[in-house]
Amino acid sequence: MAADQPTVLVVEDEAAQREVLTYNLEAEGFRVARAENGEEALVLIDEESPDIIVLDWMLPNVSGIEVCRQIKTRPDTRSVPIIMLSARSEEVDRVRGLETGADDYVVKPYSVIELMARVRAQLRRARPAAAGLRLEYEDIVLDSETHRVTRDNKALKLGPTEFRLLTTFMEKPGRVWSREQLLDRVWGRDIYVDTRTVDVHIGRLRKALCQHGGNDPLRTVRGAGYALG
Ligand code: CA
Repeated sequence: MAADQPTVLVVEDEAAQREVLTYNLEAEGFRVARAENGEEALVLIDEESPDIIVLDWMLPNVSGIEVCRQIKTRPDTRSVPIIMLSARSEEVDRVRGLETGADDYVVKPYSVIELMARVRAQLRRARPAAAGLRLEYEDIVLDSETHRVTRDNKALKLGPTEFRLLTTFMEKPGRVWSREQLLDRVWGRDIYVDTRTVDVHIGRLRKALCQHGGNDPLRTVRGAGYALG
Protein backbone atom coordinates (compact mmCIF):
# COMPACT_ATOMS: atom_id res chain seq x y z
CA MET A 1 0.00 0.00 0.00
CA ALA A 2 1.16 3.52 -0.74
CA ALA A 3 2.57 5.29 2.27
CA ASP A 4 0.62 8.44 1.50
CA GLN A 5 -2.67 6.67 0.83
CA PRO A 6 -5.31 8.50 2.89
CA THR A 7 -6.74 6.60 5.86
CA VAL A 8 -10.39 6.64 6.93
CA LEU A 9 -11.33 5.46 10.41
CA VAL A 10 -14.78 3.84 10.41
CA VAL A 11 -16.46 3.70 13.81
CA GLU A 12 -19.58 1.53 13.68
CA ASP A 13 -20.79 -1.23 16.00
CA GLU A 14 -22.88 -3.07 13.39
CA ALA A 15 -20.65 -5.52 11.50
CA ALA A 16 -22.69 -5.45 8.27
CA GLN A 17 -22.58 -1.62 8.14
CA ARG A 18 -18.88 -1.67 8.84
CA GLU A 19 -18.30 -4.10 5.95
CA VAL A 20 -20.31 -2.02 3.48
CA LEU A 21 -18.39 1.12 4.45
CA THR A 22 -15.04 -0.64 4.28
CA TYR A 23 -15.78 -2.18 0.89
CA ASN A 24 -16.81 1.14 -0.64
CA LEU A 25 -14.02 3.19 0.91
CA GLU A 26 -11.39 0.69 -0.25
CA ALA A 27 -12.90 0.82 -3.74
CA GLU A 28 -12.37 4.60 -3.60
CA GLY A 29 -8.67 4.03 -2.86
CA PHE A 30 -8.69 4.64 0.88
CA ARG A 31 -6.96 2.64 3.56
CA VAL A 32 -9.59 1.73 6.16
CA ALA A 33 -9.16 1.31 9.91
CA ARG A 34 -12.17 -0.06 11.79
CA ALA A 35 -13.43 0.37 15.32
CA GLU A 36 -16.47 -1.34 16.86
CA ASN A 37 -16.94 1.12 19.69
CA GLY A 38 -15.91 4.48 21.04
CA GLU A 39 -13.08 3.24 23.27
CA GLU A 40 -11.49 1.41 20.35
CA ALA A 41 -11.92 4.50 18.16
CA LEU A 42 -10.02 6.66 20.63
CA VAL A 43 -7.13 4.16 20.66
CA LEU A 44 -7.05 3.85 16.85
CA ILE A 45 -6.91 7.62 16.42
CA ASP A 46 -3.49 7.53 18.06
CA GLU A 47 -2.32 4.36 16.33
CA GLU A 48 -3.54 5.06 12.80
CA SER A 49 -3.53 8.90 12.56
CA PRO A 50 -6.60 8.80 10.27
CA ASP A 51 -7.19 11.60 7.75
CA ILE A 52 -10.97 11.37 8.10
CA ILE A 53 -13.34 9.72 10.58
CA VAL A 54 -16.77 8.28 9.73
CA LEU A 55 -18.49 8.01 13.09
CA ASP A 56 -21.80 6.40 13.96
CA TRP A 57 -23.97 8.24 16.49
CA MET A 58 -25.38 5.07 18.12
CA LEU A 59 -22.52 3.16 19.76
CA PRO A 60 -22.48 1.06 22.94
CA ASN A 61 -20.99 2.69 26.09
CA VAL A 62 -19.25 5.80 24.78
CA SER A 63 -21.62 7.45 22.27
CA GLY A 64 -20.55 8.84 18.92
CA ILE A 65 -21.20 12.34 20.21
CA GLU A 66 -18.86 11.82 23.14
CA VAL A 67 -16.15 10.38 20.84
CA CYS A 68 -16.59 13.39 18.57
CA ARG A 69 -16.36 15.81 21.49
CA GLN A 70 -13.15 14.18 22.75
CA ILE A 71 -11.51 14.23 19.31
CA LYS A 72 -12.45 17.86 18.77
CA THR A 73 -11.09 19.01 22.13
CA ARG A 74 -7.67 17.40 21.68
CA PRO A 75 -5.26 19.83 19.98
CA ASP A 76 -3.52 17.04 18.04
CA THR A 77 -6.74 15.55 16.64
CA ARG A 78 -9.17 18.47 16.37
CA SER A 79 -8.38 19.15 12.71
CA VAL A 80 -9.32 15.61 11.62
CA PRO A 81 -12.68 15.91 9.82
CA ILE A 82 -15.56 13.88 11.26
CA ILE A 83 -18.59 12.75 9.28
CA MET A 84 -21.32 11.72 11.71
CA LEU A 85 -23.83 9.02 10.76
CA SER A 86 -27.18 9.10 12.48
CA ALA A 87 -30.39 7.13 12.23
CA ARG A 88 -32.84 10.03 12.27
CA SER A 89 -32.86 13.57 11.02
CA GLU A 90 -33.90 14.76 14.51
CA GLU A 91 -30.58 13.39 15.76
CA VAL A 92 -28.76 15.43 13.13
CA ASP A 93 -30.56 18.51 14.45
CA ARG A 94 -29.42 17.58 17.93
CA VAL A 95 -25.82 17.08 16.77
CA ARG A 96 -25.90 20.54 15.23
CA GLY A 97 -27.48 21.93 18.39
CA LEU A 98 -24.85 20.32 20.60
CA GLU A 99 -22.07 21.81 18.54
CA THR A 100 -19.88 18.77 18.96
CA GLY A 101 -17.73 20.01 16.12
CA ALA A 102 -18.64 17.29 13.60
CA ASP A 103 -17.79 18.55 10.11
CA ASP A 104 -20.63 16.86 8.27
CA TYR A 105 -23.73 14.76 8.97
CA VAL A 106 -25.34 11.95 7.00
CA VAL A 107 -28.72 10.42 7.89
CA LYS A 108 -29.20 6.64 7.79
CA PRO A 109 -30.19 4.90 5.59
CA TYR A 110 -27.73 6.83 3.46
CA SER A 111 -26.86 6.51 -0.19
CA VAL A 112 -23.32 5.14 -0.52
CA ILE A 113 -22.71 7.46 -3.49
CA GLU A 114 -23.64 10.48 -1.40
CA LEU A 115 -21.53 9.38 1.56
CA MET A 116 -18.48 8.82 -0.69
CA ALA A 117 -18.96 12.30 -2.16
CA ARG A 118 -18.97 13.75 1.37
CA VAL A 119 -15.83 11.78 2.26
CA ARG A 120 -14.06 13.08 -0.87
CA ALA A 121 -15.13 16.64 -0.03
CA GLN A 122 -13.63 16.34 3.46
CA LEU A 123 -10.47 14.80 2.01
CA ARG A 124 -9.95 17.77 -0.33
CA ARG A 125 -9.90 19.94 2.78
CA ALA A 126 -7.79 17.62 4.98
CA ARG A 127 -5.38 16.17 2.39
CA PRO A 128 -5.50 18.39 -0.70
CA ALA A 129 -2.58 16.63 -2.40
CA ALA A 130 -4.12 13.17 -1.93
CA ALA A 131 -7.22 14.61 -3.64
CA GLY A 132 -5.07 15.64 -6.63
CA LEU A 133 -5.04 19.39 -6.01
CA ARG A 134 -2.26 21.91 -6.61
CA LEU A 135 -0.48 23.14 -3.49
CA GLU A 136 1.19 26.51 -3.14
CA TYR A 137 3.46 27.89 -0.48
CA GLU A 138 5.06 31.26 -1.16
CA ASP A 139 6.91 30.82 -4.49
CA ILE A 140 6.76 26.98 -4.36
CA VAL A 141 4.06 25.22 -6.40
CA LEU A 142 3.48 21.46 -6.19
CA ASP A 143 1.21 19.68 -8.65
CA SER A 144 0.25 16.35 -7.09
CA GLU A 145 -1.16 15.00 -10.36
CA THR A 146 1.85 15.60 -12.59
CA HIS A 147 4.37 15.33 -9.69
CA ARG A 148 5.96 18.60 -10.82
CA VAL A 149 7.37 21.14 -8.43
CA THR A 150 8.42 24.67 -9.31
CA ARG A 151 9.95 27.45 -7.30
CA ASP A 152 9.77 30.98 -8.66
CA ASN A 153 8.45 29.33 -11.88
CA LYS A 154 11.62 27.25 -12.28
CA ALA A 155 11.29 23.45 -12.30
CA LEU A 156 12.84 21.68 -9.32
CA LYS A 157 14.40 18.23 -9.49
CA LEU A 158 13.21 16.11 -6.55
CA GLY A 159 13.56 12.44 -5.69
CA PRO A 160 10.35 10.50 -4.90
CA THR A 161 10.94 10.55 -1.14
CA GLU A 162 11.68 14.29 -1.16
CA PHE A 163 8.50 14.82 -3.21
CA ARG A 164 6.39 12.99 -0.60
CA LEU A 165 8.10 14.90 2.21
CA LEU A 166 7.40 18.22 0.52
CA THR A 167 3.77 17.21 -0.12
CA THR A 168 3.34 16.46 3.58
CA PHE A 169 4.79 19.84 4.57
CA MET A 170 2.84 21.79 1.95
CA GLU A 171 -0.48 20.26 2.99
CA LYS A 172 -0.08 21.83 6.42
CA PRO A 173 2.31 24.79 6.37
CA GLY A 174 3.46 25.75 9.84
CA ARG A 175 2.66 22.38 11.38
CA VAL A 176 5.57 20.79 13.24
CA TRP A 177 6.09 17.14 12.25
CA SER A 178 8.10 14.80 14.45
CA ARG A 179 10.50 12.38 12.74
CA GLU A 180 8.19 9.49 13.70
CA GLN A 181 5.17 11.22 12.14
CA LEU A 182 7.14 11.87 8.96
CA LEU A 183 8.23 8.23 8.86
CA ASP A 184 4.61 7.06 9.15
CA ARG A 185 3.37 9.48 6.52
CA VAL A 186 6.18 9.31 3.98
CA TRP A 187 7.67 5.82 4.37
CA GLY A 188 4.61 4.02 5.75
CA ARG A 189 4.13 2.50 9.18
CA ASP A 190 4.92 -1.06 8.11
CA ILE A 191 8.50 -0.33 7.11
CA TYR A 192 11.37 -0.09 9.54
CA VAL A 193 13.45 2.98 8.85
CA ASP A 194 15.82 4.68 11.26
CA THR A 195 14.69 8.18 12.25
CA ARG A 196 18.10 9.48 11.11
CA THR A 197 17.03 8.60 7.57
CA VAL A 198 14.47 11.39 7.90
CA ASP A 199 17.27 13.88 8.59
CA VAL A 200 19.15 12.69 5.50
CA HIS A 201 16.13 13.23 3.25
CA ILE A 202 15.30 16.57 4.87
CA GLY A 203 18.85 17.61 3.97
CA ARG A 204 18.29 16.54 0.35
CA LEU A 205 14.93 18.32 0.24
CA ARG A 206 16.51 21.53 1.53
CA LYS A 207 19.19 21.33 -1.16
CA ALA A 208 16.59 20.61 -3.85
CA LEU A 209 14.41 23.55 -2.79
CA CYS A 210 17.37 25.91 -3.04
CA GLN A 211 18.78 24.52 -6.33
CA HIS A 212 17.98 27.81 -8.14
CA GLY A 213 18.62 30.00 -5.09
CA GLY A 214 16.16 31.34 -2.51
CA ASN A 215 15.94 30.85 1.25
CA ASP A 216 15.61 27.53 3.02
CA PRO A 217 11.88 27.42 3.86
CA LEU A 218 12.20 24.41 6.20
CA ARG A 219 12.57 25.03 9.89
CA THR A 220 14.22 22.65 12.34
CA VAL A 221 12.33 22.74 15.63
CA ARG A 222 14.70 21.63 18.34
CA GLY A 223 13.48 18.51 20.15
CA ALA A 224 10.29 18.42 18.07
CA GLY A 225 10.99 17.94 14.38
CA TYR A 226 10.53 19.95 11.20
CA ALA A 227 8.07 22.48 9.80
CA LEU A 228 7.56 24.42 6.60
CA GLY A 229 7.66 28.13 7.41
CA1 CA B 1 -24.62 1.81 15.49
